[in-house]
Amino acid sequence: MNVMTKQAPKELEPLIYDLSAAGRTGALLPDCDVPPSELPAELLRDTLRLPEVSELQVIRHFVKLSQLNHAIDKAFYPLGSCTMKYNPKLNEDMARLAGFAQLHPLADTESSQGALALMYQLQQWLGEIVGLKHVSLAPAAGAQGEFSGILMIRKYHLERGDTKRTKILVPNSAHGTNPATVTMAGLEVIELPANDGGDVDLDALKRVCDERGDEIAGMMITVPNTLGLFEAHILEVVEIVHNAGGLMYMDGANMNALMGVVKPGELGFDVLHYNLHKTFSTPHGGGGPGSGPVGVDDKLKPYLPGPIVAILEEGSDDEAPLYGLVMPEKSIGRLKAFHGNFGMHVRAYAYIRAYGAEGLCDVSRHAVLNANYVRARLMDTYKIPYPRYCGHEFVVEARLDGAPDVHALDISKRLIDYGIHPPTNYFPLIVPEALLIEPTETETKETLDEFVEVMKIIAEEARTNPELLHDAPHSAPTRRLDEVRAAKQLVLCCRPALPEAGD
Ligand SMILES: *Cc1c(COP(=O)(O)O)cnc(C)c1O
Repeated sequence: MNVMTKQAPKELEPLIYDLSAAGRTGALLPDCDVPPSELPAELLRDTLRLPEVSELQVIRHFVKLSQLNHAIDKAFYPLGSCTMKYNPKLNEDMARLAGFAQLHPLADTESSQGALALMYQLQQWLGEIVGLKHVSLAPAAGAQGEFSGILMIRKYHLERGDTKRTKILVPNSAHGTNPATVTMAGLEVIELPANDGGDVDLDALKRVCDERGDEIAGMMITVPNTLGLFEAHILEVVEIVHNAGGLMYMDGANMNALMGVVKPGELGFDVLHYNLHKTFSTPHGGGGPGSGPVGVDDKLKPYLPGPIVAILEEGSDDEAPLYGLVMPEKSIGRLKAFHGNFGMHVRAYAYIRAYGAEGLCDVSRHAVLNANYVRARLMDTYKIPYPRYCGHEFVVEARLDGAPDVHALDISKRLIDYGIHPPTNYFPLIVPEALLIEPTETETKETLDEFVEVMKIIAEEARTNPELLHDAPHSAPTRRLDEVRAAKQLVLCCRPALPEAGD
């Protein structure tokens, strides 16, 4: 392991314009083999400022830039709640197959049968995995899946003439998208406290349901919750909300702890969203694209966002069925153009097929095992506020005895010096100095051990040399930012103006 103390930051790569030399070219254009045609003079430019660089310069420039960033392909990335797991390259090969990648979204049904069959099969598998039979692949992210789920719940009540149900229960450990979704859907949040064990406070839940049960449209809950804990009383929670007439929404962003172990449909959930870009690999982290399908039970099926893929004509022994896109009869409508992020569907399909049913169980078992292993090994060094078995992630309260001025942020910044991406900071909000650690199932024991050792070294450094942490990172291309100024005084350009052509 490369243990760095103070070290000069890496050189920043110059702009590609600074590599330019007049007359140098990186590409030889073929001779024009069609008759030239004159463009109108007003459309012609006098100058075009492009860098004049060789092909090798271009390649090296972008490879160097790519290495300035952290990535799951480069090193450990235990970013809790985000599931930065390895994305098998097989998925990428499949998504790039010309028949998928070059299919036009407006191509007619007959010429899209392969893609539609893939989407149909993915709907079926996702439904099977969570025990909610009907699935729409339309939502483009987890948050959009949530939004469609809450719109379905709202529409379900309204169509039954139950107009008073305008409140959604949300535990205070929830991901920020949950309350945001409720508000976007025009409903109101009732926040529920957690008890000392990190679970929903059942007494508080009962009280709200007794007093205002006829206003409750439903409850949104994450399982395992954002503390990484499986709700100990989930069956009672479901029963209390159902008895009050509300529906149960499961935020399925953490399904990677449950595959093949628990089916949320069997726990009584009515609707759930998946994050294909977390549970089913598919790359993310650079702002997309994501995919957040929703699964529902029979009563919500008519409201699914569309279009969904259905069998239009049954097949026979020697003929495949005819697949087509349909809008569910009382659909909440479309969420975006066309039919979801199809490239993500291909990747998730490839992932599920490559692992198979038993393999997906192992994914979850190993994700849980790895998280518990790291948790157990860190327990002597760091405060673990909920010391019980966790799911695929766990939270540390990053306060160290003997290092009163060291904060979660300092530990995170110092991890960068050791080549490790920081865990999620200051989330969930109910744990002070939270570090949410998610190792994922794809890391080796050696990597986990190395992370534990680094965390222990950092705890020691925090006591003996806290400045080292306060000034970290030392080795990254840029030092710690003034985060307020970085957000308020944006500098979007490397320098005020590029040189004029010919300078
Ligand atoms: C990631 C996440 C979401 C939101 O999903 P996006 O795809 O980022 O919109 C919602 N809830 C939880 C618990 C999450 O971890």
